[in-house]
Amino acid sequence: MIRALVLGGTADASLLAAEIARAGIEAIYSYGGRTRAPTDQPLPTRIGGFGGANGLADYIRREAITHVIDATHPFAAEMSRNAVAACAKAGTPLIALERAPWTKAPGDNWIEVSNVNTAVAALPEASANVFLAIGRQHIAPFANKPQHTYTLRFVDPPEALLPFAADVIVSRGPFTLDGELQMMRTRGIALIVARNSGGDGARAKIDAARMLGLPVIMISRPQLPERLRVESVAEIMQWLGHSARLGA
Ligand code: NAP
Repeated sequence: MIRALVLGGTADASLLAAEIARAGIEAIYSYGGRTRAPTDQPLPTRIGGFGGANGLADYIRREAITHVIDATHPFAAEMSRNAVAACAKAGTPLIALERAPWTKAPGDNWIEVSNVNTAVAALPEASANVFLAIGRQHIAPFANKPQHTYTLRFVDPPEALLPFAADVIVSRGPFTLDGELQMMRTRGIALIVARNSGGDGARAKIDAARMLGLPVIMISRPQLPERLRVESVAEIMQWLGHSARLGA
């Protein structure tokens, strides 16, 4: 008898939840609680942190979870590290659903950096219009380069004052190439700061940057402990012992 836990919060996790529900597998979908109105899921849903790796291990035992699927965002490193530690502690099998990172195409002008602070350091000294395509919890260090005019894009309107004045776009995406080209042209964007999330939903800004000849300061993915990792929903369904009915 399977009782799976899906650590979610991504479009891929929603695809997986739909497939798990269709297959009639018992599962719980978990949101971190960062987004105010998260997408409805066809699975019983819980919201909020577990209280670290120990809290997650307790939850796994309490809820008699037999399989854990980490379908969080590739930059949700804390949750992913906790999942590895908690599953080891609880003796529960873990698999990660993680899309491949983007790779450079001809014409891309990427400055690859390892974290947000090195991204700030890589910004030019001369003022420029910069599109910061990163989560709001990571923007504070950019206050150290106040000479730039920043455009930010969030799913929800900011609740608290931002660490610096910025042009804020509120939109959930996914974003089209035409839409990104227009947004960058209208705002005179000269440079983009992005994280190497991978996948199609967030890719349009990278394609638009290439077409406009704009440099992208690309933040690499965080290092994670060794774990079983696949890129498709179908492989997760196989792991769960079912074959996916939809191609994914
Ligand atoms: P994070 O830094 O790795 O996680 C911080 C803490 O939030 C975790 O230690 C955990 O708290 C809690 N948490 C995160 N994801 C959770 C989940 N799915 N279910 C229950 N608790 C969760 O993660 P983050 O970058 O803030 O991302 C939070 C959520 O947003 C994730 O579900 C992720 O998939 C989604 N998301 C993130 C990004 C991104 O850019 N990082 C983009 C799109 C979606 P405890 O230690 O208390 O358990």
